[in-house]
Amino acid sequence: MKRITLTMCMMLLVLTASAKKAPKYVFYFIGDGMGVNQVMATQFYLSDVDGNLGYSPLCFTSFPYSGLVITNSANSYVTDSAAAGTALASGKKTNNNVLGMLPDKETPCQSIAEMAHEKGRRVAIGTTVCIDHATPGVFYAHQASRDNYHQIGIELSQSGFEFFGGADFHTPFDKDIPDEGNYVQAENAGYTIARGYADYNAKAKSAGKMLLLEQNPKSDHYLSFAIDRNENEMTLSQITEAAIDFMMKEPKKGFFMMMEGGKIDQACHGNDAATFIQETIDFDNAIKIAYDFYLKHKKETLIVVTADHETGAVGLSNGAYRMNPKVLQYQDMSEGEFSAYLEQKGREIGDILTWEEVEEELKKHYGFWDKIRLSNKQTDKLRTTYVETFGMGPGELKEEEYYKVDKMSDEATRIISEVAQISWGTGTHSGGYVPVFAIGVGAEFFTGQMDNTEIPMKIKQVAKY
Ligand SMILES: [Zn+2]
Repeated sequence: MKRITLTMCMMLLVLTASAKKAPKYVFYFIGDGMGVNQVMATQFYLSDVDGNLGYSPLCFTSFPYSGLVITNSANSYVTDSAAAGTALASGKKTNNNVLGMLPDKETPCQSIAEMAHEKGRRVAIGTTVCIDHATPGVFYAHQASRDNYHQIGIELSQSGFEFFGGADFHTPFDKDIPDEGNYVQAENAGYTIARGYADYNAKAKSAGKMLLLEQNPKSDHYLSFAIDRNENEMTLSQITEAAIDFMMKEPKKGFFMMMEGGKIDQACHGNDAATFIQETIDFDNAIKIAYDFYLKHKKETLIVVTADHETGAVGLSNGAYRMNPKVLQYQDMSEGEFSAYLEQKGREIGDILTWEEVEEELKKHYGFWDKIRLSNKQTDKLRTTYVETFGMGPGELKEEEYYKVDKMSDEATRIISEVAQISWGTGTHSGGYVPVFAIGVGAEFFTGQMDNTEIPMKIKQVAKY
């Protein structure tokens, strides 16, 4: 009986959905690694720096509809980005590491971006990481392994999607696959390659299809963390603006757009609290661009914001019934950048940095002692870590998932989390809930507890793909 009622409810929902006008413009934002506590920590932080004990809502947390999303993959309670992305793109569970295919690693799963494109919508895919990384990749590629970067790049050119924006290709040339490379393939397929936002603006008008990449891509193929970014570096907000501009060349067609905040995950892999908070704020800034668009096209727009999984098993408190997130404002570099900075300093002076020199840098870039009081134990720990790191010359680097960091920078970052009372359960992913928020036409379907596979199916129904 219960089952029948549920089925009837679902049918009713579908009927209501199909009776309604489909949104012409669909935004799908994915915060990689953005679990519920990443969002909560950011809201606490923003309130705390203003001197209020409370929370400051983000643009997307103010959306009228929200729910909780279960993220397990086909073969693990703890998903990776490829399996989670496949679920969010196509509504199919697959095994970790598999990108846009069923667990058999043969059967491709059609993504909602591909469905939208088949229905004549223009499609844009954007990210802060490389354009062939797992989350953007699942929307246009189908590979047995997410590590097949070069092949994912080939599929990008074959997709026919109108717009791609990201840092760069990860593996534009592959020694095992002798071909002309991903850039030439894209150009042969009709893509104009723009390097940076200014170049986009110069080339957009005459371009049929657009591949927007970073002007001076870093060797890791990702955009910089928001906390480290220079003025002239590209942002997710700029990619979103460019994508909207490009999609609206033919407004009648409507569009489907996926934008990924890909580095919240990377900061959380490194247990770097200040960096993930700035990254979440940056992600929200890109969503504000979409929200402004929504305000002008309220009856034709749907915005869905979610995450692929939680990273770091972030905890809010260390057991003392308090938090102190405002101290994170004094950290002005990611831990990876601080580590590289110390190394550079050492190279400049041609010697091993003294404790006094490192102490000075910790004051400047973490606010220790000057702005943040440390316990004797914490200061002692920094000193012993200094000896371990620099005592015998430049120390070996700890391998984080996405970057390398010296022990000193790693310890400083651990201590500032400790002072902020943000705890970490792991350096990888967790099986925790992620949130979903929605506004616009059909947003009411994104409430309650849902499986990650339901999200694209709801978008498909509402948008009639
Ligand atoms: Zn991920």
